[in-house]
Amino acid sequence: MDIYHMSYTQKFVGERMAMLSFKGCNFDCIGCLRKRDECDIYAEERKYIDWEIANILSELEELKPHRIYLGGYEPTLDPDLIMIIERITKLGTHIVLMTNGSKINTEYAKELKKAGVNKIIIGIKAFDAEKHLHYTKRSNEQVLTAIKNLATIEDAYFRLQIETVLIPGINDPADIEGLAMFISRIYPSISLFIEPCFRERGV
Ligand code: SF4
Repeated sequence: MDIYHMSYTQKFVGERMAMLSFKGCNFDCIGCLRKRDECDIYAEERKYIDWEIANILSELEELKPHRIYLGGYEPTLDPDLIMIIERITKLGTHIVLMTNGSKINTEYAKELKKAGVNKIIIGIKAFDAEKHLHYTKRSNEQVLTAIKNLATIEDAYFRLQIETVLIPGINDPADIEGLAMFISRIYPSISLFIEPCFRERGV
């Protein structure tokens, strides 16, 4: 199990929200925010627990989050991810998986949905192939394929969202427009969220 950190707030757009962070990533983004701080920099207090799935679940049972985000680095690298989702699903909460999308093929997408994931957010750093390679050291081909795969299984109980970052010189407005056109051709109802650029992104 690759979970290394859990954070919680009662004030996330009117909901109780917990985030489980997973260690390890297969990308090497220039501006990875995890390189700045691996944990929740806004935490007001810290609690240390014996770090195993049963204890994490019992903490979650006590906190009763409306929504649980699976994120951190890249959760889909964890071979235990499906098992973890199946256990969390029993808490009756809304589960959101945040991923770079590189590991999601059609079969795995169906497994994730069956295990109980309600929403997948794919973060794509650049639509342009060369710029993506430069920024992440990895091709974006699998990420774009994952978007197509996930769009085929989207329904009222399983939603797909795309996120990208405005990065001057890497992912400019024209690149983002290209991504928006790509997504709208696949399925016009998929939402695209554009994150702001921070200086820590290193460009
Ligand atoms: S995909 Fe996310 S976690 Fe992985 S290196 Fe890039 S920004 Fe960091």
